[in-house]
Amino acid sequence: MSGWRARLGVYTAVALLTWGAIAVMRPIPEKRAGEVLTGVRTPTWLEHVDSLSRGETLSGLLSRGGLSSEEASRALDAASVIDPRRVPAGMRVTLGGHEGSSPSKIVFQLAIDRLLHLTKTDSGWVGREERLPWTTDTLVVRGEIARSLYDAFDDAASSLPPGARAELAWTVADIYEYRLDMSRDLQPGDAFTVLFERELGPRGVVRVGRVLAADYTSGRTTIDAIRYEGSDGKGRYYDATGKSLQAMFLRAPVEFRRISSVFGMRRHPILGVWRAHRGTDYAASSGTPVRSIGDGIVVHAGRMRGYGNVVDVRHANGFVSRYGHLRGFARGVRSGTRVAIGETVGYVGMTGLATAPHLHFEVLVRGVQQNPRTALASTGGAPLASADRPAFDRMRETYLGMLQRASTQLSDSN
Ligand SMILES: [Zn+2]
Repeated sequence: MSGWRARLGVYTAVALLTWGAIAVMRPIPEKRAGEVLTGVRTPTWLEHVDSLSRGETLSGLLSRGGLSSEEASRALDAASVIDPRRVPAGMRVTLGGHEGSSPSKIVFQLAIDRLLHLTKTDSGWVGREERLPWTTDTLVVRGEIARSLYDAFDDAASSLPPGARAELAWTVADIYEYRLDMSRDLQPGDAFTVLFERELGPRGVVRVGRVLAADYTSGRTTIDAIRYEGSDGKGRYYDATGKSLQAMFLRAPVEFRRISSVFGMRRHPILGVWRAHRGTDYAASSGTPVRSIGDGIVVHAGRMRGYGNVVDVRHANGFVSRYGHLRGFARGVRSGTRVAIGETVGYVGMTGLATAPHLHFEVLVRGVQQNPRTALASTGGAPLASADRPAFDRMRETYLGMLQRASTQLSDSN
């Protein structure tokens, strides 16, 4: 059967035979070339791609692939880099061997860019690790908000696979998390430009690398974000004037990436009436971490009327942030506990008056609920140290120039 395939010169890695749902056998091209020239029928080389089932051991998988249990354990002795207790279900394993013999080559996909090759030699199994290369390029995407940040990135970054588009949207939301609540504050017509590194990996995998610079324009306000690495080697974002984008408060108590995209509860689900809703609701799955929007002290952690399990945190400026309907509290969170900005205080639930898991969030000033959007508004954090200014200024010119040029090109091509 492999003869006609060789003559036809089928070089594509199409699944030719399948074993069960995932097993694929394919001949190796070099062997076929030899066959054509000599006419001697060497045993066909076959490869079989399998993946580790939940609860299955590696030796179980190898036995299933045709190795005796003694052979499997000898092979695994050469795979000491693998910690058998930490092998993820779904790990891809390729077994290769000559038709009619047990496999003599095993490739474990340790990570998307890491392979372990085991080869059977005369002196036993030998392991060799291989790092698959990633290449990085720089891209600019430019988009406009029509409905949500996700939709905008779907349109703007259509050259990226969907997973990478979401990853980019999350990264941008994280950069602006002290300035904008990307699930709430966006207005139709807002525009953004993002300069970022795209990492191209094995088997066509695309990963979003560092975001180097971005701008976000809402109405007449543009917030630039320029990545700058200080002497500690940590990248942080600054606006065009060199002020840190970090501020006293996060704009949302749940990370943007964990907020469910659709949630439009205006009518109270239990009271069943339109009522002035004095807080902000974030839909997220039960158990999602809820973070304190700022440094502060827990002044209440317990049940309170319709709020169910609720945490109140008092901040330095006298504001109190409130997190309601929690499934439970984070370890150690009780009245008097000091919490840091971003620290988990509890987990999304549906205690109190709630029919679906969500977080009810309020900002209170002297006991009165305020609109978080105005109460938490910030115009800038600490400025860069003057020693860093010259390097930052050069980087800013480079990045903003790249954003500018790309914007012009992208608008010309539209
Ligand atoms: Zn609510």
